[in-house]
Amino acid sequence: EPSGERHVFEAEVSRLLHLMVHAVYSNKDVFLRELVSNAADACEKLRYLSVAEPGLIAGQDGFRILIEADPEAHTLSVVDNGIGMTRAEMKDNLGTIARSGTRAFLDQLTEKKDGQALIGQFGVGFYSAFMVADRVRVVSRRAGSDVATVWTSDGQGSFELAELGPDAELPPVGTRVTLALSKDAATYAEAATVERIVREYSAHVPVPIVLRTAGEDELRELTDGAALWVKPKSAVTPEEYKDFYGHVGGMWDEPALTVHYRAEGRHEYSVLLFVPSSKPFDLFDPDRRGRVKLYVRRVFIADDAELLPAWLRFLRGVVDSEDLPLNISREMLQQNPVLEAIGKGVTSRVLSELAKLAEADPETFTKVWEAFGAVLKEGLYEAPERRDELFRLARFRTTTAEGWRSLSDYVASLKTNQTAIYYALGDSREAVLASPQLEGYKARGLEVLLLTDPVDAFWVRTAIGFDGKPFRSVSQGAADLDQIELPEGESADGGADVAGLALALKEALGDKVTEVRASSRLATSAVCLVAPDFGLDRRTEKLMSRGDGR
Ligand code: ADP
Ligand code: MG
Repeated sequence: EPSGERHVFEAEVSRLLHLMVHAVYSNKDVFLRELVSNAADACEKLRYLSVAEPGLIAGQDGFRILIEADPEAHTLSVVDNGIGMTRAEMKDNLGTIARSGTRAFLDQLTEKKDGQALIGQFGVGFYSAFMVADRVRVVSRRAGSDVATVWTSDGQGSFELAELGPDAELPPVGTRVTLALSKDAATYAEAATVERIVREYSAHVPVPIVLRTAGEDELRELTDGAALWVKPKSAVTPEEYKDFYGHVGGMWDEPALTVHYRAEGRHEYSVLLFVPSSKPFDLFDPDRRGRVKLYVRRVFIADDAELLPAWLRFLRGVVDSEDLPLNISREMLQQNPVLEAIGKGVTSRVLSELAKLAEADPETFTKVWEAFGAVLKEGLYEAPERRDELFRLARFRTTTAEGWRSLSDYVASLKTNQTAIYYALGDSREAVLASPQLEGYKARGLEVLLLTDPVDAFWVRTAIGFDGKPFRSVSQGAADLDQIELPEGESADGGADVAGLALALKEALGDKVTEVRASSRLATSAVCLVAPDFGLDRRTEKLMSRGDGR
């Protein structure tokens, strides 16, 4: 190897490597799925670029991932003819942690110390190679370039970069990752092991995978690279869906819902989307980026085409359009009318599939709501035209019920003379339940929605109502509780004494309060603070005064 430049890994990479090598995770097989996934991504990126610039793949006959296993030498290589990397790209991509997901993973890991489950569910990328290798060598040649760079590391804090030696033959465009397997990982150089793992994890990567075992001439095709999403539903098994979900979404839990269909008519497109069953770590990242990939006639176009609204960013999967031009630039994707129409169609379908799930399998739907309800509720103020659909999906904790309640449940059990949907905002269920403002409601057996997600303060102020019933905060104004009967034997009437007391209090408090009045909202407490009828809710006021918009 020509001597090159030595670089130190970013501190977090070292941390990750240390965790990985010290057996955070016992299922080491996942390293191969990560390398194959990177190889497939690289092929798809070049396939996209070559649409505009066919010269980039001149002389190449189709994209493929080649796995070379050498049981004698204890090496395993994953070779792709994808986009490749320049020297600078290798330094950046294989020396730092670019993915916010991996960073969040690391944070979680230190918090919870439960790496086993975490690392299994969330792919941790290239560095997982060091779970099985003493040394990793990457040779890469970027498409369109005539130089190749060699990256080598033993995963102990630094890596080396060098030009491929002058005597060495220039490799074809793409990347070769070679692992010198550690003693206890020798099995990964055996064809049978490789084949088993590829079938288990990578069967539906949309680039064919072939295997070559050292000493054998024959190449073995392990997978055909056919796009799963264009197959009819009836031809796809649950395992195939799960494997593809893992590849496309980088998540390895069980999807809670799979939405697979082909739209025909004004626009033609195929959709294969998944609702995860657990929260991805980047769900509340400030950039709120979606993770649905856009394809045009099987060609990968973009990871973040903003096809779907941000409040559906938990979805994973693929939308493949038949109508868009193949050479569409990523800039052209913005405000493209075809894409916009597809986005609307897919949004409608996802919402109706979620509604169906709520009917057919309330238990699974509850899990989805617990994981993503706070995100879906962002749609209540960002997409007023979807409000009714979202209200039908929304579930709430309330003062009178044990489990989750829908707004229809709420409206179906209104008390006589009750005309509004009551809600209380707060930081937690416990805090809200302890508020004296709820007493009058409790005394009358009135149900109150407990709104404890930060997003609640925003949608509830703009929501007009549900089923003709306005939303009304329990902390706001005279709560028209007088109209609603108290149970036998209780009285809300404080009489003349209370009127006198209110007058005296107003005199004592002066400008600090707008008014002091007898209230039917209290049952056991003596007083409570309320907001005026048309002012801001007290919690919203607090939030705004903190300048805290989240
Ligand atoms: P992720 O794939 O989620 O971005 P990884 O750790 O798996 O994270 O890979 C880091 C980066 O290294 C990739 O984003 C890519 O830019 C680069 N990379 C890794 N493998 C390859 C490859 N075979 N060809 C081209 N680039 C690659
Ligand atoms: Mg990767």
